[in-house]
Amino acid sequence: MEKIQMKTPLVEMDGDEMTRILWQYIKDELLTPFIDLNTEYYDLGLEYRDKTNDQVTVDAAEATKKYGVAVKCATITANAARVKEYGLKEMWKSPNGTIRAILDGTVFRSPIVVKGIEPCVKNWKKPITLARHAYGDVYKNAELRIPGAGEVKLVYTPADGSPEETLSVHAFEGPGVVQGQYNLDDSIENFAKSCFEYALETKQDLWFATKDTVSKKYDHRFKDIFAEIYEASYKERFQAAGIEYFYTLIDDAVARVMKAEGGFIWACKNYDGDVMSDMVSSAFGSLAMMTSVLVSPNGYYEYEAAHGTVQRHYYKHLKGEETSTNSVATIFAWSGALRKRGELDGNQELAAFADKLEKATIDTIEGGKMTKDLALMTTLPNPTVLNSRDFILAIREKLEAML
Ligand code: NAD
Repeated sequence: MEKIQMKTPLVEMDGDEMTRILWQYIKDELLTPFIDLNTEYYDLGLEYRDKTNDQVTVDAAEATKKYGVAVKCATITANAARVKEYGLKEMWKSPNGTIRAILDGTVFRSPIVVKGIEPCVKNWKKPITLARHAYGDVYKNAELRIPGAGEVKLVYTPADGSPEETLSVHAFEGPGVVQGQYNLDDSIENFAKSCFEYALETKQDLWFATKDTVSKKYDHRFKDIFAEIYEASYKERFQAAGIEYFYTLIDDAVARVMKAEGGFIWACKNYDGDVMSDMVSSAFGSLAMMTSVLVSPNGYYEYEAAHGTVQRHYYKHLKGEETSTNSVATIFAWSGALRKRGELDGNQELAAFADKLEKATIDTIEGGKMTKDLALMTTLPNPTVLNSRDFILAIREKLEAML
């Protein structure tokens, strides 16, 4: 069989620990036997990030701007324990944060739905994709503990010398707390554009919600920006695609989500997205069955698994013990990136391969072969628990039969 050719390289970002082991298995068993894999390789493993003073992360993000599509393995975010463990020169910043800052994108997380791993919410039949605005609000706050009586004011001093604006927040009669938050029109606009673009691309309705009835200026600004961009640039395209943009209050959105069937994108402000993405992912079954894609308003895409490096399994692996680590989200990161690359290059063979890889993975699980984490929660009778490598080999068997 002739291998599938690739015109443009995919930006490949390798990572750490158990997911780095899975990364190699996936390439060896599911990709290179069938594709003449054309990637530009960046090693984002912690050792090499340290060696290059984290320059490799910046280079990888810049390469994503050049080629448009990247696939990323989970990476360690350094903390004090990791500085010691790896003898790091510095506590390097989270690679995901660095990449997101350079590409200025929005992260969309979607569960991979398979028969036998049923969501806790019975009526959720299709995935719910969560889009979180990962900038500002409470994450960039200024807060103060108020020790006793006194007034707190908001003061805006315009840079152009025009008169100041002052607003009383509260006249305290006793101790309390206060907090200041902000966001930027630019950031909200980019968030809105990424959401509208991704909805069109995946042909799913887009829901957005804030608390604009209470927050009449702050949250209202989010609502207005979404509405303006929708009216100006997306309304007709949404109608042509047969999809809908739907705005409601956050409390109404939560109530509707619980009763919905799924199959839409839920755009959330920063804090709502933080909370709701964990609720949605745990209700759908497992972090190991969640994919994640960073979509920039300029049309760059970075695909990854939503989970981390599965450190505990890695230490077992190092001791020579058997592991049963779920590689599904990492496989789907590859298939997502290959499909996108195929679409952009008009390479139908590559896009079709991505579809088959996903189908082979789902068929393997639905056929009763899975890793331990899934076996513990499946509704399928007598599942076969496979180790990390054998699970990938079982997928390869299905894939070969399809090709
Ligand atoms: P983790 O996602 O690696 O693990 C959390 C829990 O879920 C563990 O109990 C683990 O056993 C289980 N789990 C996760 N993925 C699994 C899989 N594929 N198969 C089976 N079980 C799975 O998160 P953590 O333990 O909090 O962090 C470990 C490392 O990963 C940290 O250094 C952290 O910085 C990093 N991390 C990276 C990313 C990323 O690169 N996107 C995201 C989160 C955490």
